[in-house]
Amino acid sequence: MRQVLFTDLDGTLLDLHDYSYDAALPALESLKKRNIPVVFCTAKTLAENEYYQKEMGIEDPFIVENGGAIFIPDNYFSFEFECKKKGNYCVIELGASYGELREALKEIRKETGFKITGFGDMTAEEVAEDANFSVEKAKLAKEKEYNESFIFDEPKEKDAILFAKIKEKGFSVTHGGRYYNIHGKNADKGKSVKILIGLFKKEYGAVKTIGVGDSKNDISMLKAVEHPALVKNKKGAWLDISLPNLYKAKGEGPEGWVEVVEKFLL
Ligand SMILES: [Mg+2]
Repeated sequence: MRQVLFTDLDGTLLDLHDYSYDAALPALESLKKRNIPVVFCTAKTLAENEYYQKEMGIEDPFIVENGGAIFIPDNYFSFEFECKKKGNYCVIELGASYGELREALKEIRKETGFKITGFGDMTAEEVAEDANFSVEKAKLAKEKEYNESFIFDEPKEKDAILFAKIKEKGFSVTHGGRYYNIHGKNADKGKSVKILIGLFKKEYGAVKTIGVGDSKNDISMLKAVEHPALVKNKKGAWLDISLPNLYKAKGEGPEGWVEVVEKFLL
């Protein structure tokens, strides 16, 4: 049976702090040799996904901006399906537009006085410093289309108010490893994963699906696959969820990722 791996990037395949993935290189090579699709399912933008795909030599579909859109390389599947042509991709869009999301954050800031700083409010240099990126990578991270990442500089108790406000405006919010994200309510990782699984099944018949993540914004993805797996976060702990079938890797980030790949795919 064909196998497909859906993977989060930050804190999972990439180290949460320095974004390294050296530990995963041999496993990535083995996946390539076996022709197993590695589908990124991440908060990252198109430009960032392309950067990591190129670095890792991966040419499979990917899910950007927390489920905002699915990018499928031209002719990846042998059949036609409904999508928007964009460069060399066929794109299925689920997210809201960046402009609408920026506007909603602006309104919330005005209504509550909360300290909310979006990537769109920061220069590439500021994003670079905050996220511990190079300025080059920060530029890629700022090319958002379907989701806005922001710093919420308020006590944890204010989360509930913020979340309610975002919902009231008709959008959704997730909290990943480092940033909060506002996005369209039809866009989540799980929905995008389900759509892609449908396409893979149409192409290959039955497929075995594995998903690996580290934080809250991965829950919907983990629910959408047959074999969900968690890696440990920087505190050496797993996200506190219970799912049937959930595998918990002993390693943090990329080391845990390798464990999952070896257990389920190699
Ligand atoms: Mg993550």
